Amino acid sequence: AGPAPMDSGRSPARKSTQRKRTGFVRKEDIELEKELQLKKKAEARAIAIPKSIDIMENISVSDLAKKMNIKPAELIAKLMALGVMATINQKIDAETATILASEYGCEVKIVSLYDETVIEKAADNPDDLWHRPPIVTVMGHVDHGKTKLLDAIRKTDVVSGEYGGITQHIGAYQVETPSGDRITFLDTPGHAAFTKMRARGSQVTDIVILVVSAVEGVMPQTKEAIDHAKAAGVPIIVAINKIDLPESNPDRVKTQLSELGLIPEEWGGTTQFCEISALQKKGIAELLDAILLQAEILELTASFNRMAEAKIIESRIDQGRGIVATIIVEKGTLRIGDSFVAGIFPGKVRAMFDDKGNRIEEATPSTPVEVLGFEGMPNAGDPFEVVEDEKFARAVSDKRQELKKYEEGKNVKKVTLDNLYETISAGEVQELKVIIKGDVQGSVEALKGMLEKLSTREVRLAVIRAAAGAISEDDVMMASASDAIIIGFNVRPSPAAKLLADREKVDIRKYNIIYRAQEDIQKAMEGMLSPELKEQDVGKAEVRNIFRVPKVGIVAGVYMLEGLVHRTSQVRVIRENIEIFQGKISSLKRFKDDVKEVVAGYECGIGIADCNDLKEGDILEIFETVEVARTLGKAQEDGSDKA
Ligand code: GDP
Ligand code: MG
Repeated sequence: AGPAPMDSGRSPARKSTQRKRTGFVRKEDIELEKELQLKKKAEARAIAIPKSIDIMENISVSDLAKKMNIKPAELIAKLMALGVMATINQKIDAETATILASEYGCEVKIVSLYDETVIEKAADNPDDLWHRPPIVTVMGHVDHGKTKLLDAIRKTDVVSGEYGGITQHIGAYQVETPSGDRITFLDTPGHAAFTKMRARGSQVTDIVILVVSAVEGVMPQTKEAIDHAKAAGVPIIVAINKIDLPESNPDRVKTQLSELGLIPEEWGGTTQFCEISALQKKGIAELLDAILLQAEILELTASFNRMAEAKIIESRIDQGRGIVATIIVEKGTLRIGDSFVAGIFPGKVRAMFDDKGNRIEEATPSTPVEVLGFEGMPNAGDPFEVVEDEKFARAVSDKRQELKKYEEGKNVKKVTLDNLYETISAGEVQELKVIIKGDVQGSVEALKGMLEKLSTREVRLAVIRAAAGAISEDDVMMASASDAIIIGFNVRPSPAAKLLADREKVDIRKYNIIYRAQEDIQKAMEGMLSPELKEQDVGKAEVRNIFRVPKVGIVAGVYMLEGLVHRTSQVRVIRENIEIFQGKISSLKRFKDDVKEVVAGYECGIGIADCNDLKEGDILEIFETVEVARTLGKAQEDGSDKA
């Protein structure tokens, strides 16, 4: 056969050259032509399939096909070959799409809502870069004096002092020191706000003030705060508070913090320590000086001469004024009448107020300001970006709202033990971050030591928190912000933490044997994690009565809180979020009858083999060991049943 008539749209010019040639048709010419055609075909295909595509968390097969310039049927066939059955309208997760596209030499970039709708901005003009005030967050253990300190600072502020010190709460405020320098304080003490902002990638804090009571010294939340600040790479200034009390012992605090890596300058370290009394307003001026010094080291600058970019700190609905949000300007100058996009909503600055409630016309970098004129309620941490005009603001918002709808309830790509190897190969992590929570400090330390030894040349294992106690919401927020996994050793997440973990898709792994944890992580790091046997939680029951039956042992009269229990299930006994026993169910009865299954909302009697410690109020976690084959879509299923 001669060369296939591939190209119906061939140009007349080419046709004529070919006709001329056909006068002396030679075999070589035909072969050459054939080769050329084949090459062209391959090239056309290579050009047709892009080298790289952008997708959000999930994508339908048809949309992916469109982006890749491939027939959907071809993709579906390829998916089948990979063990995934999908229809044209079905959505596949980003991971599957990545593997699929890689078969065609096409790289998949996972982008967020905001990446997809980036608002182009001009580069900063170096001449417009001026110093901006530092933005400070106060953190520390409960009752060590965060609120009192924020109050004391506000009242020391010379400017507001002249107005009688009446400040309204807008979530942030700015003070002016006697030297004329300004400092902005985020007035939302506590770690939740800090971590939440960071989880959304919107860290605005430049400096953390760590408040530690000189009486109590370092406490769990003190350590937590240090973890957060370190993970975010934000410098810490220590404020040793309550030095007015006779039992205060600042040196003890210094020793404790030195052990945690915060070494005072006077001891040869680099951390600034201030001794204060928030109550008596002592040492506040020195603390402010320390902040200014740190700010100078950080060389904080921003362009004042451009369209403003800011972050939402708080938002609420105010009767009579509509949606009101406090924002902190990061760049540029915000003015009345500016059109903006805040999160997924458009708006136009109708009015602005400073932290003292004064109406203002413009706001420069690091200034906290209350803004009116939003068309929808933005979330804390959302970007606030000024754009040229209303029309553009609306166009961007429309696009974001559309994307949001699409993204809603969808999988967020997080590092889990199951996808670790792929994420490492994709060059996305070189570091596996782990949070360890355990029932006793001893086992936590042991596990930490063991895991840290697992670091290899390719992957570093970093334990970013190791503490005794149940898995808290804060642990989950921290894991989400840092893309870490959580290991619970004989402990459970609190119900709120579990919910949060489900929502944030944080991988929580529970163990009661140290080397099992070590083994799993090692396998995951080596990319051979094949969880063929997996514990799957199927139900939860609360112990209401205890019966001791001769020869049988303990039978628990329980109420099924959720899920179900089978006669063949296994059970973990949980007391105050700590696992105290694990074993098999020996009997399952409703009234006097043996039954196979009891579901949520019913009472039943559960006999537990070999268990001799059970109390009213204990929680029984019912689980079954199931066999799970490792398939392409697995990482996704995993997230949901693990936490
Ligand atoms: P927060 O939980 O960290 O916000 O702590 P608060 O600011 O609410 O303070 C907790 C308690 O400690 C309150 O009763 C304060 O009055 C008290 N307190 C705060 N700072 C000092 C201080 O410098 N000296 C003394 N004696 N008490 C203080
Ligand atoms: Mg407080």
